[in-house]
Amino acid sequence: MSEEQGFITRSIHAGEAENTSATPIYQAATVDGAYLRGSNPTFTAFEEKMCTLEGGGRSIATACGMASVTQAVMTLISAGSRIVCHQTTYSWTRRFMAEELPRLGFDVKIIDMRVPSQLDAALEKPADVVYFEPLANPTLDIIDTPTVIRKAHAAGAKVVIDNTFLSPHLFRPMDHGADVVLHSATKYLCGHGDALAGIITTRDPDLGEEIVRTRNTYGGILSPLNAFLLLRGIKTLSIRMDRHVENAGAVADFLESHPRIRRTYYPGLPSTPGHEIARSQWTGYGGMVSFEIAEGTIDRFLDRVRLCRPWVSLGDVGSLVTGDREGQRVRMSVGLEDTDDIIRDLEQALES
Ligand code: PLP
Repeated sequence: MSEEQGFITRSIHAGEAENTSATPIYQAATVDGAYLRGSNPTFTAFEEKMCTLEGGGRSIATACGMASVTQAVMTLISAGSRIVCHQTTYSWTRRFMAEELPRLGFDVKIIDMRVPSQLDAALEKPADVVYFEPLANPTLDIIDTPTVIRKAHAAGAKVVIDNTFLSPHLFRPMDHGADVVLHSATKYLCGHGDALAGIITTRDPDLGEEIVRTRNTYGGILSPLNAFLLLRGIKTLSIRMDRHVENAGAVADFLESHPRIRRTYYPGLPSTPGHEIARSQWTGYGGMVSFEIAEGTIDRFLDRVRLCRPWVSLGDVGSLVTGDREGQRVRMSVGLEDTDDIIRDLEQALES
């Protein structure tokens, strides 16, 4: 499937078997004598689809997003390696960076990449990997991707980007020179909350083959059934993302003017730090909104929401909210429901 075809056309057709309306599930341990830890035709189709959507050289499917994070980074480091990571990442990535890699003897420098002097100082010493999420989970920190890539490359580091919160429909880090882009495909790529999966894409196909060897060694492969669900989900990625963006914008506007909300964070709001970066680099502001609620009201809010489910995960068709009951901050994954219904649910949950 050629890169010249449009993104939506490729998301529907790329990688798929040509003689069936849906790529079959190869529920087998071997095909034609090949052992299917190395490659399975169903997850290969998912890899080929993602590779063209990211504009990369090779994609590697994994069991979940954390398998992508760990397998990509472990392939790029060796004894003595230094890693520079943004301070806010998905919590288990943070644990990998702040506890697991140091436990194995690696030097991990955790900084605020939004502060140029911190990045410059961190890159004064040689680094092997620079790691961040352009829209970070859970605080929605917004990172200036092209600037970080330029500085990292000047320092000789490879750049690994977790683009879960945006998806390639809204932002393609490969276009800005990223070396590796990965996702928790469990989220927007799947879209329906029915499969865990991860996907890594490399610019350099040889690096991709090295990661395949890492996957064969570590074993975190994607099940063929989940690959099938991913293939189906991605066909509607673009139309889902556009509606996530539309609904999230309406929710952010509603929250920003609500008296019980102290502060609303959404990349589309000019009051959110990094808004200008998002406006100039992405084609949409995403479906994630975060807000600080008046003191003492978070428990009640989380108990009262009905349509918006108080569950972890994100990127599903249905709206989800999670909150730190000790803190006051709620993270919301705005779903695809009727906008008025989502806002009505938030309104009643915020009532005194
Ligand atoms: N990266 C981000 C940004 C995530 O939000 C998550 C999960 O929430 C992960 C990675 C890990 O993905 P998974 O749960 O599929 O292992």
